[in-house]
Amino acid sequence: IHSNKITLEDDPTKTIGLVTLIEDITEIRKLEKIRSDFVANVSHELKTPLTSINGFVETLKSKDIEDEETKDRFLDIIDIETQRLTRLIDDILTLSAIENSQHKILKQEIYPSEALKEVQEIMKPIAISKEISLTSMIDSNLPMLYGDRDWFKQMVINLVDNAIKYTPNGGKVQITAYMRHKNLIIIVKDNGIGIPKKDLPRLFERFYRVDKARSRSYKVGGTGLGLAIVKHIVLSLKGRIKVNSQQDKGSEFIVILPIEE
Ligand code: ADP
Repeated sequence: IHSNKITLEDDPTKTIGLVTLIEDITEIRKLEKIRSDFVANVSHELKTPLTSINGFVETLKSKDIEDEETKDRFLDIIDIETQRLTRLIDDILTLSAIENSQHKILKQEIYPSEALKEVQEIMKPIAISKEISLTSMIDSNLPMLYGDRDWFKQMVINLVDNAIKYTPNGGKVQITAYMRHKNLIIIVKDNGIGIPKKDLPRLFERFYRVDKARSRSYKVGGTGLGLAIVKHIVLSLKGRIKVNSQQDKGSEFIVILPIEE
């Protein structure tokens, strides 16, 4: 509540009225809190790899290490952490670009059958490197929708990327797409490690990762932003996303997008 006294021009000490402006600041406070939490999280997330890089660089510079093998191992760590830092910055920029343009989203024509086939091609080498069979059941002639073509593909790439990351070697990942009641349904299903029930509600939060130790054992070095980006793209397309998952059995992410007439 903002209050302002109204005073007489010739006698400013005399109050003749009170103007009160009531504004709903709870919403503003909430947004401010989300923003400051985000900045704190970003700083923390960026600092972790930087601290590690810094530490190993300092050690290498101190010339205490004689053997080449140890040096190479340290350089590998610096390399991996630098790549992770790059991914983090890319993801943060993507997320903020999507958020900032919620009101002026590109209205390109998206042809889902073609776009999904392209995603499958893009992800094939990554799947092959883990001996994962990446298959698809995509209806041809799915109706066109409007939106940002790159983001549409990014949304599915992130889901397939996760499916591959969290599925042990030799597993299966499938992309399915069909129409049902004026909705385009896209399903990315894997038979990987699955997600514990207690983590499902928080999965799409920024920087939320199920269990760092578990992710580390899968050598993935993720950013915890992949699904937050997916959620924002789904929202920009006025859609919804659901997840079904069972630990050690696999997961399935279902995107439901309304198709305008
Ligand atoms: P990350 O960069 O850690 O992969 P995401 O936002 O993409 O971040 O995912 C959040 C968390 O959800 C991951 O850390 C992972 O534990 C879990 N997750 C996402 N997709 C899958 C999947 N297909 N199978 C199992 N766990 C998953």
